[in-house]
Amino acid sequence: MSERVPGRVIDLSNVAFGYTATPVVEDIDLTVDAGEYLAVVGPNGSGKSTLMKLLLGLLEPDRGTTRLFGDPAHAFDDGSRLGYVAQHASAAKEMPITVREVVKMGRFPHVGFGTLSVSDWDIVDRALDTVGMSDFAGRRITQLSGGQRQRAFIARALAGEAELLVLDEPTVGVDAESVEAFYRLLASLNARGITVLLIEHDFGAVTDHAQRVVCLNRRVYFDGPTDEFVESDALARAFGTAVVGRSQ
Ligand code: ADP
Repeated sequence: MSERVPGRVIDLSNVAFGYTATPVVEDIDLTVDAGEYLAVVGPNGSGKSTLMKLLLGLLEPDRGTTRLFGDPAHAFDDGSRLGYVAQHASAAKEMPITVREVVKMGRFPHVGFGTLSVSDWDIVDRALDTVGMSDFAGRRITQLSGGQRQRAFIARALAGEAELLVLDEPTVGVDAESVEAFYRLLASLNARGITVLLIEHDFGAVTDHAQRVVCLNRRVYFDGPTDEFVESDALARAFGTAVVGRSQ
């Protein structure tokens, strides 16, 4: 088991995992410290979602260790410390509830079965304000554009006082103007100390935003500052290997 390191949010050591006998990720060493803003990029099927499930403790590795906020990831149970924004926030599309009700859910880990206090509601309303969604508080989540819906789900994470935001291709289907605003919001949250982990197929989108890039295709092909990634041939190698891999 890897050491517990202060300020370390994610710690994967020598991780391998496969849904069958064939691993879909292997030899993964990945550490993320509080306050970082990184993107995991790679071609389709390269294991990004699997890696995300491993680091959130939703899957247990076949080999190696995974820690989340210092605890073994699969045993981690303080859900309020992390906010997860799914692709399209699709699970929510059909929910007949308002934006404010969605954001209110962020307080549930703090209040349990109790009702929200005035200060809890204050936190909810501040979260709505932070993401620029106060004017939409009473609107049903089903009536929002993709970008607005994603911001509502970020507000829910903020209302929960999340320290880590994990976003899985959050801007798929979001119009270009809203995408820019969305990344600006992520940058401002990161500037406030929230750790941001972005999973993106579209690596072009992340190079302007994330400070660090992890390029994945079953293994880690690159892990370092974004400007070095742009200069490197990691992307070509990662995508090239995908092609070779298929023909083997
Ligand atoms: P990415 O997110 O980069 O597209 P995934 O982690 O979703 O990659 O998938 C990596 C590999 O694992 C793919 O070959 C995919 O078909 C396979 N896979 C993903 N989820 C499952 C599952 N639940 N059962 C079996 N195979 C899966």
